[in-house]
Amino acid sequence: MQIAFIGLGNMGGPMALNLQKAGHDVRAFDLSKPACEKCGEGGLKIAADATAAVQGAEVVISMLPASQHVEALYLGRDGQPGLLGSIAKGTLVIDSSTIAAATSQKVAKAAEAAGIAFIDAPVSGGTGGAIAGTLTFMVGGDAAALERARPLLEKMGANIFHAGAVGAGQTAKICNNMLLGILMAGTSEAIALGVANGLDPRVLSEIMRRSSGGNWALEKYNPFPGVHENAPASKGYAGGFGTDLMLKDLGLAQENATAMKASTPLGGLARSIYAAHSLAGHGGEDFSSVIKMVQKKN
Ligand code: NAD
Repeated sequence: MQIAFIGLGNMGGPMALNLQKAGHDVRAFDLSKPACEKCGEGGLKIAADATAAVQGAEVVISMLPASQHVEALYLGRDGQPGLLGSIAKGTLVIDSSTIAAATSQKVAKAAEAAGIAFIDAPVSGGTGGAIAGTLTFMVGGDAAALERARPLLEKMGANIFHAGAVGAGQTAKICNNMLLGILMAGTSEAIALGVANGLDPRVLSEIMRRSSGGNWALEKYNPFPGVHENAPASKGYAGGFGTDLMLKDLGLAQENATAMKASTPLGGLARSIYAAHSLAGHGGEDFSSVIKMVQKKN
């Protein structure tokens, strides 16, 4: 099957490569030259631009940073036409970016008017999950479109959930990431407190992992350098899930909470914590670097 893949960053690059490895004909594109070069070296066919990538594609997948990128790509911006105008009728569009549910719904409506099927399918599982092909997909859209997407999603992920209508995948994702942001900040505080008391971060992490404080950060993504060899913390907080992307997701959760008149005190506090961390110059580092905020300086 011919697939267009737009957005070859920390997540999109390995996801596109997994589709290629599974035997699909992937035509990929990213605005960043280094991202294209990296994936090109991995064996992906790089198209000249997004319009060239979608020519002849049966499915278009996008993995972009935020709402404004997805809206500009599909609907156009500043007088530039959107990609929907170049996608053939009957094509399936899968957007896996984490964006506002309202933006997914806006793009889906325009796609429907053009005879194009659209689902939102944000993911969880981090860059490790993207590389291993074990992501969790949270899908919003009609069941028939999900069934068309399923064989491809299975090449990139291990869990596929149908959350509801278009936008529901995004709602599930921001609930998950609000919890993740809170858990990472809390895990960082607990480890920093133990280390300040002279505890070995490996031993303390293992104690908490097997106790009632156990969570995903302690399982797979420890914020303390050297505890998990493959976690961003052990690689100078490079790659992974950027602090500014976590800040975006916590902002989406707060916007939603405001609209719903929901009470999310810890989510609001977590947004402020990551905002302060970003302002301190750590926006481009992995979000687990939030531990630096609470670590004793030597
Ligand atoms: P990233 O910043 O590493 O990659 C995004 C890529 O999109 C960049 O290479 C950028 O050049 C490209 N891009 C932006 N606009 C474009 C356009 N118009 N055309 C082509 N390319 C364009 O981000 P990421 O970490 O891969 O995350 C992507 C999305 O997935 C985000 O919404 C993020 O919140 C979400 N997400 C990330 C993780 C993670 O662990 N990194 C996990 C789950 C979900």
